[in-house]
Amino acid sequence: MEKRAEKLIAGLEERLRFFSQIGIDFVSMSNSKDISFHSLEERVLKCQECELSQGRTNAVPGEGSLKTELMFVGEAPGRDEDIQGRPFVGRAGQLLTKIIGAMEFDRKDVYITNVVKCRPPDNRNPHKEEIETCKNYLLEQIDMIKPRAIVALGKVAADFFIHSSQGMTALRGNFHKFQDVQVMPTFHPSYLIRNEGNKSIKKMVWEDMKKVMAFLGKK
Ligand code: SF4
Repeated sequence: MEKRAEKLIAGLEERLRFFSQIGIDFVSMSNSKDISFHSLEERVLKCQECELSQGRTNAVPGEGSLKTELMFVGEAPGRDEDIQGRPFVGRAGQLLTKIIGAMEFDRKDVYITNVVKCRPPDNRNPHKEEIETCKNYLLEQIDMIKPRAIVALGKVAADFFIHSSQGMTALRGNFHKFQDVQVMPTFHPSYLIRNEGNKSIKKMVWEDMKKVMAFLGKK
């Protein structure tokens, strides 16, 4: 974790030094966004605000395009993500990458993150207090990226955006407004894997993704 944070800081410093050497004493809006984002990632990588920091190998801020119209938000990093410091890289991540491809996006052209940035022990759901402590990082990411749509993967992510006592089956399939963003809740890819033979769940997820594509003018 420390090494990744040091690398990010070194990269940022090098960039600022370069700007200064070539006589640029201002930073353009897009560079300024990159720099703010790097600084946010750096804060996540060093964060010890909740007890999830104690068991992690790496915090996982998220990855992808900062200019995207579409974000995917899951609940928390799992084992593979914790080891690699990247979101959705395990089996569920590979399935998510396929879903994104089927939506005619490239994984690098969307932004992928989680509600909490550190792995809960034994992959349990994050506790309410952990979500509350971590929430500003996700809110800042949304504020900087300004996506038009967010796909909330699973109930924990859906609950972050939608205050409702309804379960996923009732929530999915419709957009819900969060600030200025349209949020589409759908089943988490790991739920799809756990119910591999269940074609109706796959169909529901694809129906949800088609609505997102239509909203973004993809079809
Ligand atoms: S889960 Fe969030 S609040 Fe908790 S230590 Fe990790 S980054 Fe910090």
